[in-house]
Amino acid sequence: MKENCNVAEIFGSNVFNDSVMRSRLPKAVYKDLKKTIEEGTELNPAIADVVANEMKEWAVEKGATHFTHWFQPMTGITAEKHDAFITPTDDGKVLLEFSGKELVKGEPDASSFPSGGLRATFEARGYTAWDCTSPAFIKETPSSTILCIPTAFCSYTGEALDKKTPLLRSMQALDIQATRLMHLLGYQEVKNVNTSVGPEQEYFLVDKEKYLKRKDLIFTGRTLFGAMPPKGQEMDDHYFGIIRERISCFMKELNEEAWKLGISAKTQHNEVAPAQHELAPIYNSNNVATDHNQLLMETMRRVADRQGLKCLLHEKPFAGINGSGKHNNWSLVTNTGKNLLEPGNNPHDNQQFLLVLAAIIKAVDIHADLLRMSASTPGNDHRLGANEAPPAIISVFLGEQLEDVVKQLVTRGEATSSKQGDKLASGVHTLPDFEKDATDRNRTSPFAFTGNKFEFRMVGSTQSISDPNVVLNTIVADAIADICERLEKVDGDVQDVMMEAHEITKELFTEHRRIIFNGNGYSDAWVAEAEKRGLPNLKSMVDAIPTLVTEKSIKMFEKFGVYTKAELESRVEILFEQYAQTINIEALSTLDIAKKQIVPAVMKYQKTLADAIAALKAASMDTSVQEALLSDITNNLKALYTAIGELAATEKKAQAIEDIKEQARFYHDEVFTDMAAVREPVDILEMLVAKEDWPLPSYGDLIFEV
Ligand code: ADP
Ligand code: MG
Repeated sequence: MKENCNVAEIFGSNVFNDSVMRSRLPKAVYKDLKKTIEEGTELNPAIADVVANEMKEWAVEKGATHFTHWFQPMTGITAEKHDAFITPTDDGKVLLEFSGKELVKGEPDASSFPSGGLRATFEARGYTAWDCTSPAFIKETPSSTILCIPTAFCSYTGEALDKKTPLLRSMQALDIQATRLMHLLGYQEVKNVNTSVGPEQEYFLVDKEKYLKRKDLIFTGRTLFGAMPPKGQEMDDHYFGIIRERISCFMKELNEEAWKLGISAKTQHNEVAPAQHELAPIYNSNNVATDHNQLLMETMRRVADRQGLKCLLHEKPFAGINGSGKHNNWSLVTNTGKNLLEPGNNPHDNQQFLLVLAAIIKAVDIHADLLRMSASTPGNDHRLGANEAPPAIISVFLGEQLEDVVKQLVTRGEATSSKQGDKLASGVHTLPDFEKDATDRNRTSPFAFTGNKFEFRMVGSTQSISDPNVVLNTIVADAIADICERLEKVDGDVQDVMMEAHEITKELFTEHRRIIFNGNGYSDAWVAEAEKRGLPNLKSMVDAIPTLVTEKSIKMFEKFGVYTKAELESRVEILFEQYAQTINIEALSTLDIAKKQIVPAVMKYQKTLADAIAALKAASMDTSVQEALLSDITNNLKALYTAIGELAATEKKAQAIEDIKEQARFYHDEVFTDMAAVREPVDILEMLVAKEDWPLPSYGDLIFEV
């Protein structure tokens, strides 16, 4: 039976959102809190007790027994520690209490979270601090109901130990610079500028029973073995295809869970690869969008599990088949509702837009390496530059219309027209006539202008979107600050400022034009062309990590108070460590599966064949087929055994390396290659051994039988 869901009723029902606060908090308290949330003013500590009490009352009404400070340590996932609301009374009973102090500050014993040397275990103090700009919510599972309070996580000395603190700092930096710019351009009414983000999330769904038979998926999130099935994604019949019932059941429950949490899950469709899907929410403030994306990934995993499925968020669960990413749609919006990236119908005439665009072009050109770094995960190494999804080279796609405006500005010093979109020419009278967009799309660009926002497409599907947005916000703040400095020197009125803005725009487009590329980003020709243009091509995470601590990057992050040098150094250490550990686990899993599952299965099949040969010989029958097959299998088994030995030796060497940077490099250059050498004969053997004797569900089983 189909149960209908009242979307309007359930949306945000588990969120302590604006309407709940307005109806439950005393007016003065509500106004105070709202000012902090909307205008970024300091939080008034006096109101914490009142807010905490109301939050608890509301949560208890919803069945909550515990609360938690919900935070995002540098593991990239979220962390929580539950505390019951209870306070014992003299008569042996309990009261349900939650104080302002408990709301505002938490002190998890944080010594086991990665800190990259920022905090030794003997000085383990870390604090979580309430982030009132992201609403508290209730997490409901069949076994518990918990009030979750989004918090930032810092060390005793104030260093960021998480992904939220730097994000908030970067949003603040960009807000200050963009507001400064708007004032200079004459928009005095603008009080602040907010970053809006809408992340599109890709994922795979596989059958849980099959998943559980694959130790590689369990331990590493991706398949380490697997021959290509007879059919892959070449027919393009999955993209936007009819959504199967089992999958739409999943999507229905996922949407409902997301809506309850105030996540505006909007668009869902099948993606390019079989078993691959996408969900896009409606954009939100950068901070809330980031929290929501973390919650969404968690909810996806939970709902899948409940329905006998497993949700794979890894960037490359299957070799040879498209991987998953996250498109980070990003724009800047003033408190008055003006999108600074809205070109209007005549962008050549829109000086404010062109100036902000020029600032972004400059930022991306100067800090392309950092942006690349911000999308680096061990899993994403399989995508970026691997002839799929965006290349590892950063470039900006502007589209025909803006490219033309830039060209006019650069070559003639003046832009006098904007190309307009024609009517759609379908050739059928009964179809509606409508104006096309002025610009087509380009799917191969890592950083594309799409109408009134930029879409950063390199981001990995498992990643917190905090990292890319911290970089994006800060580099753009930096570029805008430089512009402001020049504009502030103008002696004159707004007209004069606009003249100077025009000059700056021209200069920036001329100087940074090399980063603009409208062609095919997947082609080899582009790799060569990009090299000629001097654009960085950082092929792997290990290559990209050091960009965090270049002189240029430390200077910028410190200037805007987003990261200190020590924080950057600690992040570098953590990233190298995460890379090394990931490949280490993959190598050990490769060895484990190869030795304990593949080799024994192949030997068993060898015996079956040998027995058959003996029996056939006794019956004086021809055994040439069996012998040829047995010999083929035996040769590949020998190759496999040698490769196993080599990987085991390399892995041992890797573990003995003490310098973390060197170790990560060794895992990348040596261990990774040796893993591939083990996989090769295994994938050949999979095609030689009878299916019923093969210990792992095949690619075909996993992606076509969901
Ligand atoms: P596209 O077709 O360009 O991918 P969609 O309308 O499907 O665009 O939107 C993709 C994502 O971009 C959604 O999450 C959407 O909410 C988000 N988005 C739309 N406009 C903006 C904006 N101004 N700023 C940030 N994100 C936006
Ligand atoms: Mg999109």
